[in-house]
Amino acid sequence: MEQPLQVPVGRDIRLADFDPDHHEGFDRDDAEAETRRHCEALDELAYRLFAEARRAVVVVLQGIDTSGKDGTIRMLASGISPQCLDVRSFKAPSALELSHDFLWRVHAAVPPHGRIGVFNRSHYEDVVVVRVRKLVPRGVWEPRYDQINAFEKLLADGGLTFVKCFLHIGKKEQRQRLEDRLRDPKKQWKLGPDDLEDRQRWDDFQKAYDDALTRCNTEHAPWHIVPANRKWYRNLVVARLVRRTLERLDPRFPPFDSSLITRLD
Ligand code: ADP
Repeated sequence: MEQPLQVPVGRDIRLADFDPDHHEGFDRDDAEAETRRHCEALDELAYRLFAEARRAVVVVLQGIDTSGKDGTIRMLASGISPQCLDVRSFKAPSALELSHDFLWRVHAAVPPHGRIGVFNRSHYEDVVVVRVRKLVPRGVWEPRYDQINAFEKLLADGGLTFVKCFLHIGKKEQRQRLEDRLRDPKKQWKLGPDDLEDRQRWDDFQKAYDDALTRCNTEHAPWHIVPANRKWYRNLVVARLVRRTLERLDPRFPPFDSSLITRLD
């Protein structure tokens, strides 16, 4: 099975071609140790981005139910100071949100310069769940791929860097995770009838994701397909990705006015 994290722009993406079990031969202990090292580096890089206050990053987390979005956020939050982080969750839209265009609530959630935003679900719900559950007709969701690409370009041109991650788990793994949730009193609250219904539409979701990943994989905002059957490997991949993104941006502390030193009485 091919296993690039990033697929060249313009190439068809079929999730069935990606192995959700892939783990580069890491074992759990090594992966967790490496993730901790990435998180330590991230803390310093995020602080520099915050001090620089000229650019922002947004980590977009998508995936089917139980794919590990919450766990990934917990990992990122363990490494990055809360003042540098801006976590937003996108649920089914409210009446107010529905009375605006679908990107309105997303634009409002974009992190300001200096911050790392994390989107727990995102505008991609508007071409995935909306399509699968037939919440709007095709004539409404079909133009959204181009609208999303234009929106992301606008933001990228304004200094926002996207790290779009699709957390890829297999159907068997999802069953196991749903079963764990059904049995664990601390996790049962996370489950609703929608989750079990959505599982029955597994193939439709995979197809809708294939299209979203293919059509919105752009130079300015590429997708990453993160093998996520193993939570510790998923964390390693995302931590490494965010670290590399920040290293590439290389945020700098603003210049220091040395005359301040003489002004301290
Ligand atoms: P999560 O599963 O993310 O932990 P919830 O159980 O509250 O949180 O699920 C949020 C639900 O909202 C998901 O079923 C998701 O598909 C749905 N949702 C998010 N955005 C939209 C949207 N734009 N239109 C319809 N449903 C949406």
